[in-house]
Amino acid sequence: MVTINGERLLGDLRVLRAMGATGTGVVRPAFSETDMAARRWLMERYEQAGLRAQIDGVGNVLGRSANPGRALLIGSHSDTQPTGGWLDGALGVIYGLEVVRALAEDPSTRYLAVDAISWQDEESRFYGCMGSRSFCGEFPPSAEAGLRDKDGVALADALEQAGLSGTPRLAAADHDYLGFLEAHIEQGPHLEEDGRRIGIVESIVGLGGMVFTFTGQQNHAGTTMMAGRKDAATALYALASLINEAFPKVAGPRSVWTMGRAVLSPGAPSIVPGHGELELQFRDVDPDVLDRFEAIAHELVDVINSRGGATVETMPSRARISAAHMDAGFRRHLSEAAERHAPGQWAAMPSGAFHDAGVVCTVMPCAMVFIPSIGGISHDFAEDSHDDDIVLGCQVLASGAAAILEGAGA
Ligand SMILES: [Zn+2]
Repeated sequence: MVTINGERLLGDLRVLRAMGATGTGVVRPAFSETDMAARRWLMERYEQAGLRAQIDGVGNVLGRSANPGRALLIGSHSDTQPTGGWLDGALGVIYGLEVVRALAEDPSTRYLAVDAISWQDEESRFYGCMGSRSFCGEFPPSAEAGLRDKDGVALADALEQAGLSGTPRLAAADHDYLGFLEAHIEQGPHLEEDGRRIGIVESIVGLGGMVFTFTGQQNHAGTTMMAGRKDAATALYALASLINEAFPKVAGPRSVWTMGRAVLSPGAPSIVPGHGELELQFRDVDPDVLDRFEAIAHELVDVINSRGGATVETMPSRARISAAHMDAGFRRHLSEAAERHAPGQWAAMPSGAFHDAGVVCTVMPCAMVFIPSIGGISHDFAEDSHDDDIVLGCQVLASGAAAILEGAGA
């Protein structure tokens, strides 16, 4: 049976952590110098593990197995948020490397073909899941043209600086993968709260969003009587409050919604605001729940508009992302591996966060393994997981991958 080397795994995770280390966190956004250094380091590690390493034109790093037969692709992303945690996607990237090494060391699994990958820009410096989207044909020139990060840096310049202009890009169509496995920290509290050490993801939640634009009448805050006001702020607060009262009544057990962006202008204490914007995002695995949230939001907008103050207009803030369902066969193999290595200490669960597997599952079967996040904290310097959970998660992934490949008659 394939056995991973926990010390080697933790050692490489710590080497990667040092690249961009800031306090207990990591700053390694896509295409930064540290990100590119980490990608070059990973290519060396892939080569040492017997893989043929290449970096593609958007920065994806792929290590290809020399073994015959259809390969399983395993990995995640090694870029981080502007102020990120040390594990996040790095965990799944080093898992991919370690699974390759462990399989190669065992005579019974040495012939199995696993390719390892680190996708680029999952964290959306330029374009969320850019690397996996490019691989899956979802990053057309129309999306790429004029793309800039929040500081105004053009993607074209970042690619040039990274030495990637003109480098060929990977495409799923050029490969014949059996499927893709991604491991990740949970980034939520459920595993820890339930006393579980492994999560086998059933589906990645879908996501919808709306932008509400409020139009009132800007005026003097001292002389404009309350009765005559068309105050964009009052309408904005009222709508937000109505949403928070109404959504729990139709929510699923793990529905979430967030009004994470609110703007009032001109934004001065002595001016009745004439303009406001409020952005709502909601997530659930069930598309019916997303539909209900959207319908209710429209009804509440009508309520605000009927009050005669500032008026509200609604726009979708983004294209709806459908829930992504993980492959049932892969899940069964991973669940059996979880039961073998952590009997009674694993659970099937949805993923509340989006992942590259949510993109890749449009072109091949995918599955995901989670390990607990201490305190449910992620996208923060405090993000961490227990060493023994990190090692266990990789062992479950390695055993599950071997079972999938053996089951496929590789
Ligand atoms: Zn991630």
